[in-house]
Formats: sequence, C-alpha cells, structure tokens
Amino acid sequence: ADPALPAYGQQPRRSTRQVRIGGVAVGGDAPVVVQSMTNTDTTDVAGTAKQIADLWRAGSEMVRITVNTHEAAAAVPHIVERLAMQGIEVPIIGDFHYNGHQLLEREPACAQALAKYRINPGNVGFGKKRDTQFAQLIEFAIRHDKPVRIGANWGSLDQALAAQLMDENARRAESWDAGRVLREALIRSALDSAERAVELGLARERIVLSAKVSGVQELVAVYRDLARRSDFALHLGLTEAGIGSKGIVASSAALGVLLQEGIGDTIRISLTPEPGASRTQEVVVAQELLQTMGLRAFTPMVTACPGCGRTTSEFFQELAQVVQEHVRAKMPEWKVTRPGAENMTLAVMGCVVNGPGESRHANIGISLPGTGEAPSAPVFIDGQKAVTLRGDRIAHEFVALVDDYVDR
Ligand code: SF4
Repeated sequence: ADPALPAYGQQPRRSTRQVRIGGVAVGGDAPVVVQSMTNTDTTDVAGTAKQIADLWRAGSEMVRITVNTHEAAAAVPHIVERLAMQGIEVPIIGDFHYNGHQLLEREPACAQALAKYRINPGNVGFGKKRDTQFAQLIEFAIRHDKPVRIGANWGSLDQALAAQLMDENARRAESWDAGRVLREALIRSALDSAERAVELGLARERIVLSAKVSGVQELVAVYRDLARRSDFALHLGLTEAGIGSKGIVASSAALGVLLQEGIGDTIRISLTPEPGASRTQEVVVAQELLQTMGLRAFTPMVTACPGCGRTTSEFFQELAQVVQEHVRAKMPEWKVTRPGAENMTLAVMGCVVNGPGESRHANIGISLPGTGEAPSAPVFIDGQKAVTLRGDRIAHEFVALVDDYVDR
C-alpha cells in the first residue's frame, strides 16, 4: 500500500456502550439505526399513530413524538395501543422540554408506554430548579426502566453553563474563539448531564448522547470531540438542516464525514418537509445515506445514468424511477420472503456508451437505446447478456425480470 494514500474504506466503528430501546439495540456492535420524528399534534391519536405507522413502513426503526402537555402525555398510551393493534411495535420516544418531570409524574401510563425519554439539558428548568427537575426526570427513567437520550442543542444551549465557560475563557492565557467556547459548552452540557445521570443511578448502558448544531463544520467538530471524550452511544443529526435538497445535502455531508470516521450509532435526518412532501422522505434519505456508504442495506439500489444528448427520450429516467419505486414497495414483503434481496444492485442506462458496462456490473441491468441505436434494449443478468427487450412493454417486462431474479 502507498503510505501517502489514506486507507481505503471506513474507519472502524467507535466502540460504544450498547443501549436497548424497546426491541432495538443502539451502539456496540449493532448496525446504525434509522430514526425519525412525527410532526403531528400528539393529542391527535389517530393522526399521530398513522404517521408513526407510515414512518415505520418506510423503514424508521424508532419514532420520536412531541410530549409537551398533559393531554399529549395522556394520548401516548393510546397511540402505542393503536399501533400494537396493527402489529406495529416500533419503539416510541417521548420528546420532553420544560415540563417533562411533571408530565411523567402525572401520567405514569405515558412514562411506561414510551420506550425512551429524550431530555434536553438546556430546557429542563432554570436556576436551582434545574438540578431538581433533571434528577426527577432521571428518577422516572430508573423507576420505569427506560433509557434516556440526553440531547443538547445549539438553539437551546444551557445558558448558565455557556456563561460559566465564557468566564473561564476570559481567564485563559490564550483564549479560545467564541465558536470554540460555544462548542465546548454544548459538549459539556451533554457530558456533564450524562455523568450527573450516572451519579443518580442511571446505568451508562441506558444513556444515548447527542449535541446537535445546524452547521456542517460545527457538527463534525462537536461529534469528533464528543466521541473522543466518552463511550456513550451517539445519536447523530444536523439540527434544523433545512428544506428540500439543502437539508439533504447538509445532513449527508455532515453525517457522511462522521460515519466514515466510525462515529454514530443512530441517525436522524431532520428535514423541513416541502409543502405536500411526505414526512417519510427523511427516512428514505437516512436509509440511502447508510446504504450508499456501504454501512447497511435496506432496498436494492438502482444505478442510473444522468442522460444526455445521446438519449432519444426521458424514458430511461422514468424507467429508473419506476424500478426504484417498485423495489422499494416490494421490500417489506421481500424482507420476509426473500431475505438478501436488499443487497441486489440494478442498473438502468440510457445508451450504449456506458450502458452495457454498467449493466454488467449490476445483478440485473438494462441498456436502453440512445439516438441512432437499434430500437432494442439488452438486459444483462449477473454480467451476462440474457435477453433483448423491444417495443412499448419494456418497462413492464424489465420489472418482471427483476421480480423473477429475486424469486430465483
Ligand atoms: Fe449519455 Fe449514454 Fe452516458 Fe447515459 S450512458 S449519460 S445516455 S452517454
């Protein structure tokens, strides 16, 4: 190997303590877990249960919901019950701010129905009440035997801690810049709160940490430091990532760097949905990020060329979309009946320039006719030309060949 070149592939996964969240393992040797969050009013039991079911069907392995009022807390057991009646046992995480201690005390059925509590150390309370209320939250977690995510956030940083670190910085011989002080405040907020929870009796194997910011470089710096300074399981996510492609790109850039370095045990892609877009988009993006990085396989991946002036139509792009949607829709069934189908690769290519070559690399690939080519589309299966499709039923026949390949 050339020592001047960086090593190929990912760095080994960072060793973390494994946390059981309902039936899902996070950290340790468990695969990186995909999670998401609802945006429904939690008091709307039917609507929230439906969105959780949609997220779960899309592949979310845990789902977080807002628990902000007594009515929302009272709704939680009904939501969990409604999901169980549909055979859905996805762990539900309660997101608490400001009044979590009161809600967990007043609604023990909620405390029991949730699989994990998310506590934001910057929003537990202020002054002397903060320590008491934080201790109460941890005591509820211990009493109900629930894990906790201690999730610090740039937008709700513990102001007392930030002020204390500013003072310390002023006395430092070589003072840090303001950004580094704030990053340290975020990290210390998460780490100090976790250590306090351990002192109160919560096992280290019941704690997940996060420290989210909205800037890519800041997130990478914060998590590298957090990973270096503890062995708690880490929840990765860029907070307030943004809408549409901006949110997808920013999240993928930040999480991609960290995952490549072996950092991160569960991820959430926090997208602001575009009007009319499905909430499940964030789950698909999270899965695709993990799969394209080679960390997990969820659904067969379709390689498609971008198209150019050599193609006669956009038919091949439509075919790529049809094929990707088909395999994604079939995956829940294949997961049970055809395990391993998720590792399959497909190629849909627009002309002879790269079509046959790329199709040969896939398990099953098709090279559609470009401008000036004969109106035929060779299909390659496991590297060999298997059949040539013609006419206006190419899409239908190719999808049938994919299904046949999976069956075999
Ligand atoms: Fe263009 Fe053909 Fe390359 Fe697709 S495979 S981008 S159609 S040259």
